[in-house]
Amino acid sequence: MTGFRASPMRRRVCARCGKLLPLRTRSDAIYCPGDRCKQAAWRAEKLSEEANKAFKARVEIAVNAHADRDLLEFYRNLLPRFHATHGVSSTAE
Ligand SMILES: [Zn+2]
Repeated sequence: MTGFRASPMRRRVCARCGKLLPLRTRSDAIYCPGDRCKQAAWRAEKLSEEANKAFKARVEIAVNAHADRDLLEFYRNLLPRFHATHGVSSTAE
């Protein structure tokens, strides 16, 4: 395992498709030559950004719903005590 990693001639692979990059690829290139893999990676990143935004929005809704429920629970507990101290029947009829 370490022998493979230590090899100075280790070929780099495309970050998108995993194919070997041509030997004469620029040292900072991470995708295949041409725009196909670069564009696909860019699109995938956009998609995951959108998915992340949608997920965050859903979490926010869930958190708000939870807060609403806590508030409702708070008043539900408070109301009978309020009624008791003010001599009002807390049972709705
Ligand atoms: Zn590629």
